[in-house]
Amino acid sequence: MKKTLSYLIPIMLCFAVGALGSYLQTSALAEWYPTLRRSSLTPPNIVFPIAWSVLYLLMGVSIGTLVSRGDMSVVRLWLFQLLVNFLWSVTFFAMRSPLAGLITILVLDVLVFAYIIYAASRRPLASWLFVPYLLWLIFATYLNGYIYKNNHSTAHAVQASTLVRQTTINHDKVMNYSMPTLPYSADALVPLMSRETINYHYGKHLQTYVDNLNRLVVGSPCEGMTLENVVKCADGALFNNAAQVWNHTLFFDGLTPLQQPMPKRLQSAIERDFGSVDNFKEQFTQAATSLFGSGWVWLVQNNDGGLAIVSTSNAGTPLRDEKNPLLTLDVWEHAYYIDHRNRRIDFIQDWWKLVDWDKADARMKHS
Ligand code: MN
Repeated sequence: MKKTLSYLIPIMLCFAVGALGSYLQTSALAEWYPTLRRSSLTPPNIVFPIAWSVLYLLMGVSIGTLVSRGDMSVVRLWLFQLLVNFLWSVTFFAMRSPLAGLITILVLDVLVFAYIIYAASRRPLASWLFVPYLLWLIFATYLNGYIYKNNHSTAHAVQASTLVRQTTINHDKVMNYSMPTLPYSADALVPLMSRETINYHYGKHLQTYVDNLNRLVVGSPCEGMTLENVVKCADGALFNNAAQVWNHTLFFDGLTPLQQPMPKRLQSAIERDFGSVDNFKEQFTQAATSLFGSGWVWLVQNNDGGLAIVSTSNAGTPLRDEKNPLLTLDVWEHAYYIDHRNRRIDFIQDWWKLVDWDKADARMKHS
């Protein structure tokens, strides 16, 4: 009986830590984690609970083999590493701090390694049961380190409630239009674009357009259509909100904190139609500074494959004219007023440094 308890208690403890840790991770996994720039070695989400379940079981059995022999000296070390293991869920997922998570997991690596050495001299089996755990931790340390290095140390994404709305189709076949997911964290574009601007522009302005779209589309002739088709079908307030959602989606998706050189295909098309990349930028900037009031400036591809610069007012979008938009700049005041006040030109100059040329290139259709 006592021997059974010596196994059961550690396993129950591991189970409690696992369940509590998972609870803390729930909202972060849904809202924050998907917005992080992660290593390409990151396994699918489902791998994590499976791996941890197995590892916690091994962890419990390992200390059980030592406790059942009456060897209590190692228990404190085991409990301590379990506590630090839980602390990692708190720092990384609940506090959403990749830096604090990295420090915690490095401490955990040391503790687990110490346990393996300590246990080896008492019962080799207890030691071996911990080896998969250590290997997994080293891998997790790399993943955590990658996230820290590539997302800024204090990366907190936009307020959870406004960040990700899953697209759902409910029983009445009503389509729910969702917020696009940002391919970077809310402060990834600092100092060129502040976290506050993302919070307002993406988190509040775009959210309002999405909410209005979902409200207005019900009962309209465009109900149930894809966003692109609503833009083409609607007029009045429904058009304004649907087009603003579509335009903003292209705008935010077309930004990157890690700008790469322009791909050759796009570069040669620009050189063909504008003479040079500098000429193109100059004409685009000119169009953006001279657009009166609110609107958008676009790089589009026409049906014949040629590129052109287009300006639209308010929610206007070249999508309605069967043109293929590659890139867009939002020149509504709400896009720049927090960071640049009335200086639209400064905003445009900063925006050039954030343009994701790979995305614009990928949108080109072969002609
Ligand atoms: Mn806007």
